[in-house]
Amino acid sequence: MSTQQDKLDALCDYLEMDVAEALEAAAFDGVAAGACTRPDCDFVTEEIEPDSRDGWCDDCRANTVASVMVLAGVL
Ligand SMILES: [Zn+2]
Repeated sequence: MSTQQDKLDALCDYLEMDVAEALEAAAFDGVAAGACTRPDCDFVTEEIEPDSRDGWCDDCRANTVASVMVLAGVL
């Protein structure tokens, strides 16, 4: 299993949504949930640009957050 898949699963657990619901919410709201892509970081956010691959992680102090759409491979 890829790290990206793990991140997607963890993010959906956090949101209490399945992947399809999370993607639908992002498509309708224009704001997506996202998760930090570093393996040892579990930072998540509920507000990130849907196409973001390099959003800000408050924990890493780096641009390492990818949106749910990126994690799911939709973008
Ligand atoms: Zn992080």
